[in-house]
Amino acid sequence: MAYPEKPILVLVDVDPTGAPASSTAGLLTAAASIGAPVALIVGGSADAVETVAAAGAQVVLTASGDAATLTVPVVDALQSAFQQVRPDAVLISNSIAGRDAGGRLSVREKLALSMDAVGVSRDEEGVLAQHSVYGGSYLTESAPTFGPPIITVRQGAIDTSAGAPGAAGAATVEELAVTASGAVAAAAEPIVAEQKTSTRPELRGATRVVSGGRGLGSKEKFVLVEQLADALGAAVGASRAAVDAGYIPYAHQVGQTGVSVSPQLYVALGISGAIQHRAGMQTAKTIVAINKDGDAPIFDVADFGIVGDVFTVVPQLIEALEARKK
Ligand SMILES: Cc1cc2nc3c(=O)[nH]c(=O)nc-3n(C[C@H](O)[C@H](O)[C@H](O)COP(=O)(O)OP(=O)(O)OC[C@H]3O[C@@H](n4cnc5c(N)ncnc54)[C@H](O)[C@@H]3O)c2cc1C
Repeated sequence: MAYPEKPILVLVDVDPTGAPASSTAGLLTAAASIGAPVALIVGGSADAVETVAAAGAQVVLTASGDAATLTVPVVDALQSAFQQVRPDAVLISNSIAGRDAGGRLSVREKLALSMDAVGVSRDEEGVLAQHSVYGGSYLTESAPTFGPPIITVRQGAIDTSAGAPGAAGAATVEELAVTASGAVAAAAEPIVAEQKTSTRPELRGATRVVSGGRGLGSKEKFVLVEQLADALGAAVGASRAAVDAGYIPYAHQVGQTGVSVSPQLYVALGISGAIQHRAGMQTAKTIVAINKDGDAPIFDVADFGIVGDVFTVVPQLIEALEARKK
């Protein structure tokens, strides 16, 4: 089959049910900005192709795989797709599975691997990856000296608010012929679905995040953070001090030793803005901070700041947001 010009191979992460991960839209949007997105789905559900085509893939390659066998079937398919498509770059989610697949493809094909990119671009020599480094203080670029780059893209870093790129939905679908490597693969069994009671978005990859810090004062009062998050349809994050104080579990910690987020909107409530916290949120597109100390370092990185008590300001904010919904 003939592939479009300047193909960018995108590896779609799928969950154990075969559904494409939420990172897919960002990867396809990034791919469309530098070439023609060719998506690879390994072990996808019946609806996966349609979902990925609607998200902007021009070509969708499918390969079989079962959720229990880890990594190897995905990397075998990725390598076969790479050899067949000869893309200008390979984009993969910077998830645990994505980093694993990217590293292995890099070794197998002797290609450069650019990790945790917050953006991609193209110049006359090829594709470049942008990285936020030193706790978000600098934006750097990486490009290989030979061959197309394999780039893992930070979840949530790509703005998808403009909708799917290109003629979304009109993809060519092809079943990929995979050459099995015979590499030893670990198996995860059994896979048990966890019952989720929260309707809030997941922190990793969320487009909006509301985080609370020690300034909230107690676990009971931390509910205010959740109320604002719900009013905005946002995920809930926290500083380490809030986690250490038991206001919220560690899974919500944002920062150097927690989750790195790159949402379109990050709201920091009662968070001082220590370098270790900023390292995990500084690449957010718009940062709003509410803190009663006008000299708090969070205001150095904030686009909008309110000097005030969260218990006075936030209820008014929620009220205004609710009024707008009516
Ligand atoms: C190796 C290492 C790794 C670390 N990793 C992380 C990490 O991953 N993530 C992280 O967050 N931190 C991390 N830290 C900790 C970090 O240095 C800070 O201690 C932490 O971020 C502080 O959290 P905080 O801003 O909530 O608390 P504080 O620094 O105590 O700030 C609380 C803020 O709330 C404000 N405030 C108080 N009451 C109110 C009110 N009623 N209304 C409005 N504002 C109010 C105060 O003015 C203050 O600015 C790490 C530290 C180390 C050494």
